[in-house]
Amino acid sequence: MQGHGDYTLGHVSVRDGDTVIMKRNGIGLEEVTDDALLTIDLDGNRLAGNGPVHLESVLHTSVYRARPDVHAVVHTHPLYSTAFGATDAKLEMINHDAVLFYDGLAYFDKTAELIMTPEQGESVAAALGQKRVVIMRGHGVLVTGKTLPWVVYTALTLERVLQIQSIARSFGELTPMSDEMASTVYQDKYRDEFIGNYWNYLIREVERAGYAPDDERARRPSATKDAEGVGHAPDDDERARRPSATKDAEGAGYAPEDERARRPSATKDAAEGAGYAPDDERARRPSATNGEVERSTRAPVREVV
Ligand SMILES: [Zn+2]
Repeated sequence: MQGHGDYTLGHVSVRDGDTVIMKRNGIGLEEVTDDALLTIDLDGNRLAGNGPVHLESVLHTSVYRARPDVHAVVHTHPLYSTAFGATDAKLEMINHDAVLFYDGLAYFDKTAELIMTPEQGESVAAALGQKRVVIMRGHGVLVTGKTLPWVVYTALTLERVLQIQSIARSFGELTPMSDEMASTVYQDKYRDEFIGNYWNYLIREVERAGYAPDDERARRPSATKDAEGVGHAPDDDERARRPSATKDAEGAGYAPEDERARRPSATKDAAEGAGYAPDDERARRPSATNGEVERSTRAPVREVV
């Protein structure tokens, strides 16, 4: 969840014409399965699905009414972004993540209450204006996007850049880049094709972490793969090959079955940890006990949405 988790609170939605798809109330972000999705209209009435509608669904519907360009919304209570909203700090252009927000953030400080009425929702949408993000002081954030991959990426990047800013400030005074540089980096970095790659990576990360249960995967018709974004449904064939007993043993399931089968000894598993490095690279290494190499090639495990 990369900082966005808060028990069963927080929600992601996608607009589909005059309807909105979002998870039901009562489950966490990482627990969402197909049958936990509700379809509601722009008045918040449930049209399809089972389970209670989130109390703050009006946040989403109000923004969709006000912003025809917005097709996906995230509302969460992320750790760093919420802390940032409790200060008079400003998001500074300190790295590539920051320039996604070069046009600034909006702030909503009319109330810290839950947003449950149409009037409150309209008030938040008005505060958002044409920005990507509105920081809801004393509450959390609302992030908008033109697609689901964009909104998820933007929400994760917001939290990441505010974490980096917090760390940077602990080292010393911030040294932001110029507005001109921020504009140049933005144009180079924030393109649809890149977001597609990041989105596909996130999907693989979720699958490795094993959040989506196999039962649910089995129920999915293959046509839903595209509907889920940019084709991120799991490789059913690969899953089918796995003996069920190994699923638990694999934990987060990082290394594919075939690779495990080729490993000469169980001690390699311990040394390699989650097994991030590909086999080819391992084969080139002079020794499995080369701790420096092992450590430097391993990426940190990150939580996923
Ligand atoms: Zn909230």
